Amino acid sequence: MASSSRSRTAEVEEDVETILASGLVTPTRRGWKGTIAVDMDDVLCQTNATIVHMHNELFDTQPPLTLADFKNYLYWMNRGWGTPEETVDMVAQLYQGGLYMRAPPVPGAKEALHRLKDLGYNLVIITARSENQRAGTEDWIAEYLPDIFDEIHFTGAFQHLEPTREEKEGHVARKAVVSHHKRSKAEIIHSTSSLFLIDDSSENAYDVATSTYPHDGPIKVLLFGDYPWNAVVHGDPSFPKSAVEGMTYHEKVKNGLLEEYESIRKKKLEKKWLPPGVERAGDWEKVLGWVERFDSDKQRSQAEVKGGDAEGI
Ligand SMILES: [Mg+2]
Repeated sequence: MASSSRSRTAEVEEDVETILASGLVTPTRRGWKGTIAVDMDDVLCQTNATIVHMHNELFDTQPPLTLADFKNYLYWMNRGWGTPEETVDMVAQLYQGGLYMRAPPVPGAKEALHRLKDLGYNLVIITARSENQRAGTEDWIAEYLPDIFDEIHFTGAFQHLEPTREEKEGHVARKAVVSHHKRSKAEIIHSTSSLFLIDDSSENAYDVATSTYPHDGPIKVLLFGDYPWNAVVHGDPSFPKSAVEGMTYHEKVKNGLLEEYESIRKKKLEKKWLPPGVERAGDWEKVLGWVERFDSDKQRSQAEVKGGDAEGI
């Protein structure tokens, strides 16, 4: 074994050099064990629960919206929204109305994140929010979860749906211009050499789990929270996604397909399918328990390797 001829410090230093070569992660602490990637909305802050309150205040949806209406991670698939473009505009109004600071942290997040840091992990945020949400996002982190994260990555997943400033002001430009490369979460997990992602989106979980980047270990994603929008994970090869599941809420209503959609959803809920590489963690206590087991298993296997090497000397 290669590790038999090197001290633990040398191993750590080699790891650090390897990661630094990517230019993306700058671990500085001794005993560094690797990076864990964490999503923001509904993993760190209670975004959707706050949106329910604000949506009812601002848009007066009848009957009032509840969290149970959030059956899909993409809001426009659910009751109470519009087309993707209209939805992005409504979300922008919610942010302008104070959504950033009104969303409280997810219970247990702060304590669990500090414990993960104490265990020796670096923590990075990977969020679908865009660059123009950076200031509000950083203010929230500074207020509620300071001195925890090494990096924040904004993928800008919905930026292509946002109107340009000129369009908002009545300019003739009708298409948003995306000025930077949109990145997937899988891409960032790979570039930051993250051990795994903690995310509440079943779509992100599936994308990361089925991405082909080299990965050490069986689990790539902890699917966070028992939320209506992640109760079903699509991608089960024996239960392909039907056309109605790809429709916006208004398209389903227009085509009289709400019942059909609910019936398919019910069957998928009963099946509880998860792709290989994804495990569920309902709350931060469960995440912490999972990582502590992951951590002690890793330490045990490293000790066994060293013990085996010592015997072989
Ligand atoms: Mg999220």
